[in-house]
Order: sequence, then C-alpha cells, then structure tokens
Amino acid sequence: MTTQHRGHRIVVVGAGYTGMFAAVRTARRTRRLGARITLVNPSPRFTERLRMHQVAAGGRLADHRIADLLAGTGVEFVQGRAVAIDPQARRVTVERTAAGGSGAGPDARHGVTDLPYDTLVYALGSRTDTTRVPGADHHAVTLDDPRAAHEFGARLAALAATGGRVTVSGGGLTGVEAAAELAESHPGLEVTLLSRGVPGAMMGDRARAHLDRALARLGVTVRAGADVTKVLPGAVELAGGAQVPSDLTLWTAGVRVPDLAARAGIETDARGLVVVDDRLRSVSHPEVYAIGDAAAVRQAWGQVHGTCQSGLPTAQHVADTIARTLRGRAVRRFRFGYFHQPVSLGRRDAVIQFTYADDAPRRAYLRGRWAVAYKEFVSAGPVVMYRLSRRMNVTAVLSRGGRATRSAAGGGGRAVMPLPRGRRAENMGR
Ligand SMILES: Cc1cc2nc3c(=O)[nH]c(=O)nc-3n(C[C@H](O)[C@H](O)[C@H](O)COP(=O)(O)OP(=O)(O)OC[C@H]3O[C@@H](n4cnc5c(N)ncnc54)[C@H](O)[C@@H]3O)c2cc1C
Repeated sequence: MTTQHRGHRIVVVGAGYTGMFAAVRTARRTRRLGARITLVNPSPRFTERLRMHQVAAGGRLADHRIADLLAGTGVEFVQGRAVAIDPQARRVTVERTAAGGSGAGPDARHGVTDLPYDTLVYALGSRTDTTRVPGADHHAVTLDDPRAAHEFGARLAALAATGGRVTVSGGGLTGVEAAAELAESHPGLEVTLLSRGVPGAMMGDRARAHLDRALARLGVTVRAGADVTKVLPGAVELAGGAQVPSDLTLWTAGVRVPDLAARAGIETDARGLVVVDDRLRSVSHPEVYAIGDAAAVRQAWGQVHGTCQSGLPTAQHVADTIARTLRGRAVRRFRFGYFHQPVSLGRRDAVIQFTYADDAPRRAYLRGRWAVAYKEFVSAGPVVMYRLSRRMNVTAVLSRGGRATRSAAGGGGRAVMPLPRGRRAENMGR
C-alpha cells in the first residue's frame, strides 16, 4: 500500500462478538498501512452473550474489559452509543458514556462526538424481541442485559426454597439452554419451557431425543405447541386464555435489530438487517460493511441466521477485505456453511448436532462429557481468539460450505439456489 491510504479512518460500531473480532483483525491486517481504527460500544466490558443463560441461573461472567482486549492493537476505544449515521457526510454520531459505568449508571457523563469515517463496519448485533406480545417488555426478563440477567439469577435461590415457578418462553436453543441451566442450578424450582414448536426441532432425531431426555431428567416441564399471547405480572397467558403461573418469566423468543441503519437510509430488509452483497458491503452504501446478527447475508443455500458461528467468519472476511482493498488487491466472495449446533444442557451435559452447510442436521452428533468440553471450547473460543489475533492471523472459519457455496449465486450472491439434498433448514434465529 501506498501512502494514499495513510490515515484511512475505519469506524467499527458495536463491540460484541463480531465487532471485537473485526476491530482486532483489521488492526492486525492493516498494521503497516497506517489506518486509524475506532471501536464504539456503550459498555466498557465485552459481554459474553453465549454465557448469558449461566448468568440468569446465578453464575458470574469473567470481567473482560474491551480496552484490555484491544491492548497493543492501536485500536482506539470510544465508550458510547452510536445514535445516528450520516452516510452522506460519512459520520457516526456517538453519545459518550464515561468509563466506570455501562452508560446508564449514575456516574455516566454524557457528551456527543462525531466520528468521521472512510469505512464503516456495522456490527450492532441483535436483541431479544419483546414486542411480540403485550407485557413481555415489562413482566419478563431477557438475556440481553447482563445486569438484568444477574438480578434475575440473584432472586432464584429464595424462590427455589419455596418451590417457586419459573417460565422460559421460547423453545429455540437459547430457551432450551436457559431452562436446563435454571433447573440444574436450582432443583427446588418448577421450571416450565413454553415453545410454539418442538424444542430443538432443527436437530436430528437422536440429538433431539438426548435433549428431551436431559430436560426430563432435570425436571423441566416442556409445553410444546404453547402459543404465548401475553405476559402478566405473575403468569403467562396462552392462546385460548389459559394461564401458566409464573413467579419469574424469562423471554427468549425472537430477535430484533437496531434501527440505526434503516434510519440512515442504508438499505435494510423487512426485519431491519443491512442488505449486503457477496463481499458483505451494503448494497446501497459500499463503504459500509455489515457483519454478524445485523447483516442480511445470503449464501447459495439460503439466508444465514444470527449465530456466533456465522458472525465471526463475517467479521474475519470484512477485516481481510478492508486490508486487501487498501492494498489495491482483488477481494473475495464471502462463503460460509454451518458446521454444528452446540447446546449446553446445564453444566454437566450438552449435545452437539453436526450439520450440513445450510444447518440441516447430519447423522453425527455428540453428547455427554465430550459434548460439554466441546461446548465450553466454543464458548471460550472468541475471547482467546481476540487475544491471539493481536499477534497472529487466527481463523474463525470452521466451514466455507464446500459444494453448497462453491458457485456464486446469481445477482451478487443474493439469489437462492436449491441444495443438492433438496432440504434447507428453517432455523431463522437461535
Ligand atoms: C444465551 C445465548 C446463547 C447463545 N449461544 C450461542 C452459541 O452457542 N453459538 C452461537 O453461534 N451463537 C449463540 N448465540 C447467538 C450469538 O450470541 C449472537 O449471534 C452473537 O452475539 C452475534 O454477534 P454480534 O457481534 O452480531 O452481536 P452482539 O454480540 O450482540 O454485539 C453487538 C454489540 O453492539 C453493541 N451495540 C448495540 N447498539 C449499539 C449502538 N447503538 N452503538 C454502539 N454499540 C451498540 C452492543 O452493546 C453489543 O456489544 C447465543 C445467544 C444467546 C443470547
């Protein structure tokens, strides 16, 4: 590269799993190019979302400071919340929050900063959708906010002592993990998992049977086919009016994404995800890249759904693409295929379903002790990877999808091609 790119300003908004990786890897890949990288996040801590069900069950997270994870990379950390993007002026407006608080704390100092960029990496992730049914936002807790999850966990011991009832709404993998964790950590609780479909429906028969057995062993009552219509202060109401008594309710159903991109006029899909081309650039603003849960990424086999497994490769791809672009090199098409569905079932059991590229289950699966170790490896992996990535190129790509992603889909990678096996997973969120 050339001096023309010295001082190229790269702003990464969101320091979750993908934004952290994008920032650290971009710094590594552009270290001789003189690019200036800024990472923006409201909290000074990196939140391990993959472990939030452990927090809700009364566990504690390791305290990973973003500034520590960035040490030695040259990336500047701005603690604040991006409140607006002006794609014409190429500027992000950030409401600053002082160090020592998560932004909402009493000691938070606010101020507004404009961050100009030449390249923007949009990594704002997703949150649980509490707008689906009335009362979910007021009378249920989600796994989004570590503080709320911690407070939820702190109330369980007293509740368990009196045989209290906890309801987990949402039978996706996050709901399954949460229900298992709560029941195992507090055997005195009555835990009910409410699921519209069959929990673990995306898994193969044998892995799902193991999941069912584990939930039964832990005493979790599973109510499949339960359509929650309302969350009340002491109950959850189902379609038809029946009520499930619930002293504490955890809401894990559905995800939604921030509306920042849509408000800025960056093209988004119906759910607000940034529509990207096959290089992960916004189709309306090519100087904006979108990664992780907030990006609508299509592969030949269909649309990628939000997971860490798919998000980290998007971050890696964008970091490499930015470096290659600054060096004047050709950039590659993003290729990704799913590899596994790792599910913890408390601290002593887990099940790992291995998958085809489109997330449909293979025959192979893992359970028990080996699955616990595997799942822990998956959960601990990202932070280890950030630390290593400061000094070397570490890959986050488990599978590029093989045959299922080899040929470019038409229309810039946005068209869907049928899978050779004629089946496609319908799993659109974790
Ligand atoms: C309990 C649980 C278990 C999970 N387990 C797994 C698993 O085993 N495997 C798997 O692959 N996936 C799992 N997932 C899904 C996984 O956590 C997400 O797919 C992943 O976090 C997406 O990464 P991301 O970087 O896109 O978003 P996030 O990790 O959510 O990060 C987004 C970041 O952006 C920040 N942000 C938001 N708004 C703003 C703003 N306006 N300005 C600045 N910053 C902002 C947020 O504070 C956050 O730090 C799990 C999710 C949950 C909730």
